[in-house]
Amino acid sequence: MAEKTKKRETKKVEKTSTKKTAEKSTTTKSESKKIGMLSDLSSVNKLRLLYELQIIDSNIDNIKTIRGELPLEVQDLEDEIIGFDTRVKNLVQEIKEIDGNVNKRKANVETSKNLIKKYEEQQKNVRNNREFDSLSKELEYQTLEIELNEKIIKELGVKIKDKKREIEATRAMVADKKIALEEKKQELNEITSETANDEKELIGRSNEIKNLIEPRLLTAYNKIRHNARNGLAVVTVKRDACGGCFNKIPPQRQLDIKMSKKVIVCEYCGRILVDSDFANE
Ligand SMILES: [Zn+2]
Repeated sequence: MAEKTKKRETKKVEKTSTKKTAEKSTTTKSESKKIGMLSDLSSVNKLRLLYELQIIDSNIDNIKTIRGELPLEVQDLEDEIIGFDTRVKNLVQEIKEIDGNVNKRKANVETSKNLIKKYEEQQKNVRNNREFDSLSKELEYQTLEIELNEKIIKELGVKIKDKKREIEATRAMVADKKIALEEKKQELNEITSETANDEKELIGRSNEIKNLIEPRLLTAYNKIRHNARNGLAVVTVKRDACGGCFNKIPPQRQLDIKMSKKVIVCEYCGRILVDSDFANE
């Protein structure tokens, strides 16, 4: 299970880092100057701390993301199951109504058959041709009535069969969804109980580091992170480009970043840029 969570997290990190969106520069030049100069001795450490804070905060983000999606997936499945159950209930009701109609039609057929018997008896005792013909017409009418009702009964039978088939298919889907729901619920429980401790630890470490970073720098970090869509405020230089927005960084600027003597922000997205070696430490 721990493996699974890790995989999810890695996936998320890849997804966010490949997002090629150049966010609007959130740190102005004067601001970067404000947070720019650090006392030389500790500047590398400060940048390292900042980068470490970013990694920890990104991990916290990932845990939140993982948890954030699963409850929704569980909810979706529960809604779907309720929808299917309602469909089955409606179909059962429809079949009941059709059955009622079939019974009515069957009763009509019986009535017509009884009438036919009665008219045939009457025909045996008619006094004239006119009476005979009139009964013949009645007989013909009742025969047609029987044919019509029987035709409708047949059609209704087909409808009932179709609806029964639909009920079966829907019930099979509900069974599948219920299995999926149980799996998701279990996954959510495991992740919640599993990540609860990780999250607590990460938040603790994040706060520890935040206490070590000077307030002005921390404010800048929080501001950039808040404005960046993937929550990245501190990025490394990757293949001569900003690891946040992927815009190229001039060689001289790259050298400055490597020196780690001051806080340098990307001129396109405003993220704080740090030496790519930080990522390997
Ligand atoms: Zn950038």
